[in-house]
Order: sequence, then structure tokens, then C-alpha cells
Amino acid sequence: MSNDSRTDDTETRRSFLSRKTCAGIIGSIALGGCLDRFPRGVDPVEDRSAESRNSTDQPIGSHEPMGTEDATFERLDRWEADGDTELTADTENVFSGSQSASVEGGSGVIRIEYPSLIDLSGYDISFAMDIERPDGTIVHLGLTDVDGNRTAYRSQFYQSSYPSGYLRYAPSVTSYEAEMSRIASIQLWIDADGEPPKYRVDDVRFEEKRFDRAKFVFTFDDVLRSQYETAYPIMSDYGFVGSLAVNTELLGENDRLTLEELAELDTEGWSIDNHTHSHVELRGLPEKQQRREIETPLDFLADHGFEAPNAFYYPHGNADRTSLEIVAEHHDIAYNAFTHWSTGLSPTTPMARYWTNRMLPRSAAPVERRIDLAIESKSVCTPYWHTIRDGGEIDPVEFEKICAYLEERSDRIDVVLPERIALD
Ligand SMILES: [Zn+2]
Repeated sequence: MSNDSRTDDTETRRSFLSRKTCAGIIGSIALGGCLDRFPRGVDPVEDRSAESRNSTDQPIGSHEPMGTEDATFERLDRWEADGDTELTADTENVFSGSQSASVEGGSGVIRIEYPSLIDLSGYDISFAMDIERPDGTIVHLGLTDVDGNRTAYRSQFYQSSYPSGYLRYAPSVTSYEAEMSRIASIQLWIDADGEPPKYRVDDVRFEEKRFDRAKFVFTFDDVLRSQYETAYPIMSDYGFVGSLAVNTELLGENDRLTLEELAELDTEGWSIDNHTHSHVELRGLPEKQQRREIETPLDFLADHGFEAPNAFYYPHGNADRTSLEIVAEHHDIAYNAFTHWSTGLSPTTPMARYWTNRMLPRSAAPVERRIDLAIESKSVCTPYWHTIRDGGEIDPVEFEKICAYLEERSDRIDVVLPERIALD
């Protein structure tokens, strides 16, 4: 078994989810003790035994949405692959247990059908995946109800930006059409993009929903001036605060915030968080250098009277295994930054604790849709911006519309800081 599977769930400063589930506990050591508790509380709502295939490991009336052996791919017989897609057991490259599912060729779709409809309305879902090809793809998860309506999730993968090996994906909700209390099947696939896909998947997890209401986190990268001059006053009018992804070396430079402005935002309740010292791409750097980039801001902020940051933001959205490990030593949550996607890939859940999805929206409309999806799915919408000004990533009028919409929907969504997401 590869040690590579560990970092995304490394338990470090706090006991993340141990109160309820095993979702926050790393790979092989802890998992054995978790199996019999996986997952609880999901009740079948309709007996489909007559039409089910001959499933033996999941008795009709089971309260579990997926037998542990199916979820960890210890047995593959209830999973099936589409058309020319090959589904085989891989005992060499596993995330947990003795084998994973290896999927190759064709459409790359695998699915599992339930003998009993299951109620997933109170659950979030995640999985570990190791993608070989294509480089640059979208990861899909579908939950289909008994009438064929689907709730769809997506995540993103770039070999050149992502840690190699297994990574836990907490995919983002992109449509919420299924009746979640009557789910009949799960499908998993990646976009082929003209190249036969090849990936491994392991350890599908269901976790009781972390929040009973949706959350929204404003995040701003690179300490650029318009965040202070434009976003801050608009948000203040609504009583909202956000998280600043700070590069300590850049403070006080031309067009960047000063230390005094940072202190002012801190006093106003904003979260001062870590985006490395110099904004270098961490991926591929020697460990010593990565450590210096990640840890220098911690010392700097402590020296200047700030609290230790909860959140880390990978510069350029790039990281390798070493980055994740060092980040996990010091932070409670870490965020990537999707390239090429302005409308999707948030909202999501914090199940992929050190690789949490964000979105870069250029106008209010897509954010309003995502807020609605977050409300429906009780998940977390996390946009990020560098510049909030005319001609910037988003203009002030559109930015204010987002604030107004959040206020309008404030009976069902809370604007919070990353610490609320990570440490509930
Ligand atoms: Zn940045």
C-alpha cells in the first residue's frame, strides 16, 4: 500500500470529524475500526427486491446505502462498467483495504444499482481517485433517483497541477435534480477527451451532512488593493467578512495591502490566512523550500499579533504530496483554485479537507445559481477573486449583487469564515 494515500486526510491539529464518522481518519490504520460503523442511518424507502439483481451482501431492508465491501471495492461484483470499459481489481495501487477498482477504456463509466432505494438526503459523498489519463479532465459523480432524475457532481483534475497518486475528491454539486431520499444508483466517470480514460477509484464515503444550513465563504487572494478598497466597504454594508489569502512577502508592495490594512481587517473580524510567503508554485520544490514558503507567514503573522491562520490557499492552485503534508501540519483546511472554470465547481463539502474546491465567478448570476444549489444541498459555496473593480475579475456592481442576494437568502445561508467550515 502506498503512503501516498494519507495526506488528504491527515489528522493534525484537531480531531476533525471523529465525533460522528471515520471520514477524517487516515487510510489503513484507522479504517479497520471504522468499517462496521460505515455508514449509518440511511433508510431504504422502497423495496426493489423484485427488480434487483441477486445481491447477497446487502439484505433487503438494509439501512446502509452501500455495503462496505462495495464502497471500498473489496468486491466488485455489484459494480458494473459501461460498454467497452474494463473494470478490474487492482491490488497494487490501493487507497485502503486490499484492492481498488481499476477502470480503463470506453466511456469510463462505472455504476452500482441498489436493491433497495436509499435515502441520501442527509449525506455527503466523497471518494479517492488516482487518474492516469487523460491529463486535464473532469471527474463526475451522479446519483440517480428511481424516476431517472440525477443529482450531478463534478471535480477537476490536472496532472501538471495536482498531487500524484490518490487524491480524495469532494466533488461540487452542479445540479440537484434527484429526489435524494429515493436514490437508485450511483455512477462514476471521468471525461475521456478523445483519449481512453484510465483511473483507479477507492473508498467511496458517505458522511452525515456537516451543516444543517448552507454556508458561503468569501475568499480573496494575493492581498490586492481592490479587495480592501472595494470589496471590504461593500461587504461591510452587509455585515459580511471574508478570508484573505495573504502572501507576506508582498505586503506593502505597489498595489498590495499594507500591514496596517491587514490589521484593520483583522480587527473587523476578517480571517487572515496563508497563501505562502512569496506566491511561488510549490509543486516540485524541495521540501525545505516548500516548508520555508508555507511556514514563514506563520511566524510573520504571529510576530505581528495575528492569530494562527486556519486556512491555506495553494498558490496557482498547484501542489504536490509534500505541499499537502506540510500544509496539513499547520492548517485546518486548504483550498485549491480551479482554472478554466468560472461558473462551476462550488458548492462542495469539506470532505476533501486539504483540497477544497473554489470557483472564480465573473458575475453575479452564476453565483446566485450556486447559492441556490448550496442551499438545496446544504453545502458550502466558496468563490475567490483577486480583483474587484471595473475591468477586474468582477466589477463592483456585480459583486454587490452577490452580497444583496446573500442577504435576500439569509434565512437559508450563512456567510462564514473558513474556521467555521473546518472546525464545526
Ligand atoms: Zn494567488
